[in-house]
Amino acid sequence: MAAPEDESYDFIVVGSGAGGGPLAANLALAGHRVLLLEAGDDHSCRYYSIPIMQAYASEDADMRWDFYVRHWDDATQQARDSKFVPDRDGIWYPRGSTLGGSTAISAMVTIYPHPSDWDRLADLTGDPSWGAAAMREHFRRIERWRGKDAEPMPGQNEADRDERAAHGYDGWLGTTRARPDIGGREPMFLDIIGAIEETARERLGISEDVPLPRDPNALDAVNGGFEGMAFIPVAVADGERNGSRERIRQALDDAPGKLTVALNCLATRVLFDGMTAVGVEYIEGQNLYRAQPKSVHTESLPPTRTVHARVEVILAGGAYNTPQLLMLSGVGPRAELESLGVKVIHNLPGVGRNLHDRYEVSVVTELSSDYPIFEDSSLDVPVDASDADALFVEWRDHRDGPYTTNGSLAALIARSSVATDDPDLIVFALPIDFRGYYPGYSRAAVAHKNRLSILVLKGHTTNRAGTVTLRSADPRDAPEIRFHYFDEGTAGFEADVAGVVDGIEIARDIAGRLGAAVAAELIPGPDASTRDDLADFVRDEAWGHHACGTTKIGSSDDPMAVVDGDFRVYGVNRLRVVDAGVFPDIPGFFIASAVYMISEKASELLIRSYAENA
Ligand SMILES: Cc1cc2nc3c(=O)[nH]c(=O)nc-3n(C[C@H](O)[C@H](O)[C@H](O)COP(=O)(O)OP(=O)(O)OC[C@H]3O[C@@H](n4cnc5c(N)ncnc54)[C@H](O)[C@@H]3O)c2cc1C
Repeated sequence: MAAPEDESYDFIVVGSGAGGGPLAANLALAGHRVLLLEAGDDHSCRYYSIPIMQAYASEDADMRWDFYVRHWDDATQQARDSKFVPDRDGIWYPRGSTLGGSTAISAMVTIYPHPSDWDRLADLTGDPSWGAAAMREHFRRIERWRGKDAEPMPGQNEADRDERAAHGYDGWLGTTRARPDIGGREPMFLDIIGAIEETARERLGISEDVPLPRDPNALDAVNGGFEGMAFIPVAVADGERNGSRERIRQALDDAPGKLTVALNCLATRVLFDGMTAVGVEYIEGQNLYRAQPKSVHTESLPPTRTVHARVEVILAGGAYNTPQLLMLSGVGPRAELESLGVKVIHNLPGVGRNLHDRYEVSVVTELSSDYPIFEDSSLDVPVDASDADALFVEWRDHRDGPYTTNGSLAALIARSSVATDDPDLIVFALPIDFRGYYPGYSRAAVAHKNRLSILVLKGHTTNRAGTVTLRSADPRDAPEIRFHYFDEGTAGFEADVAGVVDGIEIARDIAGRLGAAVAAELIPGPDASTRDDLADFVRDEAWGHHACGTTKIGSSDDPMAVVDGDFRVYGVNRLRVVDAGVFPDIPGFFIASAVYMISEKASELLIRSYAENA
């Protein structure tokens, strides 16, 4: 749906993901007239809703954009990655492009960031509203926690526990975690969960009187630098995925006439009057962006339309697309823009720099027998209702059972040998064969029903060497994305490698406790026996899916800063960025919660600043 050309809105928000969706909704609920431009459609299907089918959602051609990124410039090193796609000269890196952005295809993990992530931002900006205590309030307002709480600690009762946990219960984002009785239905799951608990107790010296699992989002755990065993919190409400999309729909219902959602509208340029952003140019149509798997190549650009914002333009296209849009609009590194004939509005060299991610790898084992719980299950939506298996029927009729989970069994959170401050490793188990993202991965993951993947995710990584640059001045072309992994990156990469290797050792420790239930380790495999072997494996196979940092917050004397602590783009007026790009340093373990929190922070700021306009 196109936005009426002659209307001018208070705010135009580009992108409906974790950053843009809640922000557009909040501004509309506060009485502003908001246009939300979203390049994707609002395709809905069971892959969107059924939590266990999250991997299929990420490969759904109606909800995703396919980026092919280079982890390495070195072609020989890059080709060593089993996920490398030669035809596309890169590694597949999906992003959501649909109502809700990547939250519509994500794995829904909702883990609270570390307090130091926020306190560092407060120091950087000199603004205490970025501090951990203030930011917790944003999370509390977002959250509608319905998960099973951890058992109280020794000496505490349930009321003490709840007070210290400081969850939110009335927000727009339903969160929960897998109920213990679901895991209890499969003896092998119980063994795996038991092995994780045992590993946590032994490695971290957790005595038997401390009940496990703990709740990693409880405030006392967060503030205490929690290490231990946990069940993973997820954005699931009443057995279904929820996220930005539901928040947007809530605002459409509750603030009629205030929010206009223009789907299938690809923003091509921010319009400036002098140095002031006054609107957005866009093209309308399905699958126009060439990273869309259904996009059909045409030379001529569809006719452009324009819309104007009376107050501000806010970009929330994500860590790849916001820098692209800024550069197309003439805000970015001068030489690069001029080389493509883009008229420079403001030379901002940090746009598209500082790209970074977490590093993840997987230890995949073959089990001696299939999981009995999956025996008669297709692990898919039945083509014909009469073929529905029992687990599907349980979800369909009661929104209950294993399909209400994202598939993760339990996690171990710890400090690696290179952790400088907060815990930097989360190691968690999935009862599938998951080796990272590559085309077709979601089907391959369930092709065998006797696989266990123990994932290692290294947070607080040091490398900041990635780049997003324009390939062309055509807004339909995906930008060029180069991460410059490890040795190609910035100083400190050795610590990143060592931290992931520590995580693999923990994963192997967990698998080792399963005894004869494990038939063989498939990857890294028995030949990778020394730390050097494992370091090579990490260099070859690591991946990430939380790209950030490409429009980073920084002080005015940092030439590479793109936005200030109030999300304002330096050097121009009335233009902000609110998405994963703004983090100078990747926060916590999983980024969506942090993006939701900055979206709330930006909402509060804008609503306060422009109260008189509402
Ligand atoms: C497969 C997968 C699994 C993930 N799992 C998790 C997880 O379990 N937990 C977690 O914390 N994080 C997870 N993430 C990451 C997380 O979802 C993202 O980091 C987060 O959503 C980023 O928010 P954002 O607002 O920056 O961008 P996005 O959520 O990606 O939203 C950007 C939106 O902007 C739109 N857009 C872009 N450019 C334009 C334009 N020019 N015009 C109009 N619209 C535009 C896009 O179509 C998209 O809808 C996952 C991501 C993926 C892809």
